[in-house]
Amino acid sequence: MTSMNRRHFLGAAAAGALTTAASASMAAANPCKLPAKWDETYDMVVVGSGGAGLASAVSAGQNGVKKIIVLEKMPFIGGNTMISGGGFNSYDPVRQKAQKIKDSPENHAENTLKGGDGRANPELVRTMTANSYDALSWLEKMGMKFKPEVYQIYGGLYPRCHAPYGSLGSDYIKVLEPQCKKLGIEIRTQSRVVRVIREQPLSGRVLGVEYTDADGKSHLIRATKAVVCATGGFGANPEMRAKYDPRMRNLTTTNLPCSTGDLIRILQDIGADTVGMDFIQCNPGCPPGRKQRIILHLYAANFIMVDRKGQRFVPEDERRDVIRDAVLSLPDQTAFAIVDQRGFEALNPGHQEAAKKGLETGDAWTANTIEELAKKMGVDPAALKKTIDEFNAGVDAKKDKIGKNPRNLTKIERAPFWAGYSGMSVHHTMGGIVINKDTQVIDRYGKVIPGLHAVGELTGGIHGTNRLGGNAICDIFTFGRLTGIAVANGK
Ligand SMILES: Cc1cc2nc3c(=O)[nH]c(=O)nc-3n(C[C@H](O)[C@H](O)[C@H](O)COP(=O)(O)OP(=O)(O)OC[C@H]3O[C@@H](n4cnc5c(N)ncnc54)[C@H](O)[C@@H]3O)c2cc1C
Repeated sequence: MTSMNRRHFLGAAAAGALTTAASASMAAANPCKLPAKWDETYDMVVVGSGGAGLASAVSAGQNGVKKIIVLEKMPFIGGNTMISGGGFNSYDPVRQKAQKIKDSPENHAENTLKGGDGRANPELVRTMTANSYDALSWLEKMGMKFKPEVYQIYGGLYPRCHAPYGSLGSDYIKVLEPQCKKLGIEIRTQSRVVRVIREQPLSGRVLGVEYTDADGKSHLIRATKAVVCATGGFGANPEMRAKYDPRMRNLTTTNLPCSTGDLIRILQDIGADTVGMDFIQCNPGCPPGRKQRIILHLYAANFIMVDRKGQRFVPEDERRDVIRDAVLSLPDQTAFAIVDQRGFEALNPGHQEAAKKGLETGDAWTANTIEELAKKMGVDPAALKKTIDEFNAGVDAKKDKIGKNPRNLTKIERAPFWAGYSGMSVHHTMGGIVINKDTQVIDRYGKVIPGLHAVGELTGGIHGTNRLGGNAICDIFTFGRLTGIAVANGK
């Protein structure tokens, strides 16, 4: 079953709950006990069917790799990529030129390195930014559609983000799944990889994988060319999060329950190195105890954030880690995002729907005046009115009181006004498996592990301490495409 219907998300929760038990059995599995007999043989085995896994599979198929299988533990494909906003950062000689925005791969690389405090691997960053437009064009050639204008996504720090036409990450999966069919790539859901098998404990080639099916039955697949691991991050694994950053233990997450970091430990067991595990990103989401996520913050230029006193406390176009730390420093770690009707209309339909649903659940509010909105939010009306008036005066003066970039100053003036809870929710894990620019996995001695690739959020070293908004989708499709090419070239 490869259906990616959102109704399956409930099933996802159940599958996620199984993960801990599965992890325990994984620990017991000996990665170097060579099978007496393999059940099946493929050229390339891809683990994980999110954007990184599907892009790797399709690219490999297009470049001549013949027998490819994708193993996915959930009952549906797509991973977090499918529920993402889909914002894709890339320099763009066409759209940015039309919008008179100066940019280049070098500029994107510099922004990425600076935004991650110089802790990313410059070679990986430059590989990503130099190849991002090719990846974007590759997707477009397969039918992916982006809006004609780029924008500055929340935490993106520069206007180079491409919004899918449907404005959601599911667009990518809808483009890649038929390509898999066309290329004869098999996708097997409810297939959880529990072991990556290597010739010797810390040396030799990776030979294949072991997975368990929905009935818990074990299967062994040999990979003659490569095993490509694309299993995403560990944002939905509170214990693992807390091990690296204790503040993250009790927060909600924006991730699907599948993001449990299974392959981090499985690959460490065969010698893979990790980097940056304590760099964990939060985004505005549900404060603990609430259920409906309200997304009014997507366009950095369109929203402001206030605390319970109705006061702004951080420039809303700041780095994501700066906003995370500012919100987590508030007395109850909860803020509000506010947009006017113009900002609301700019949001994609899915995010508008979530806000409307929030009106029913008490997570969002709308009103024709700022004072009325403030009352509904439980904030002092005079204080919020003063904040908005000062902000709008700053827009006219092109100088914001707390330092929002003039490029991102847009008045909050058109009724009705909208507000929603904005807590901090675990969103992305920047750390992970160490790779080189061909996505080959590097071991703890700095050497390539032959026959093994890792790609997407599972990897580390691409974002440093803080990922720029829009750079994860860029990462997974750019490196996904390059992975397929590398495997086809015998790497
Ligand atoms: C709500 C949300 C919005 C986002 N919006 C944006 C955005 O607009 N722009 C941006 O740049 N980034 C965004 N991100 C981040 C981005 O979407 C992710 O970093 C990216 O999609 C990860 O892709 P991936 O292919 O590496 O992993 P995923 O898409 O998460 O796929 C991993 C897959 O591997 C499977 N898997 C895991 N373990 C196993 C196992 N043991 N065996 C078999 N299969 C396994 C999982 O079930 C999953 O299907 C967003 C994230 C979220 C959660």
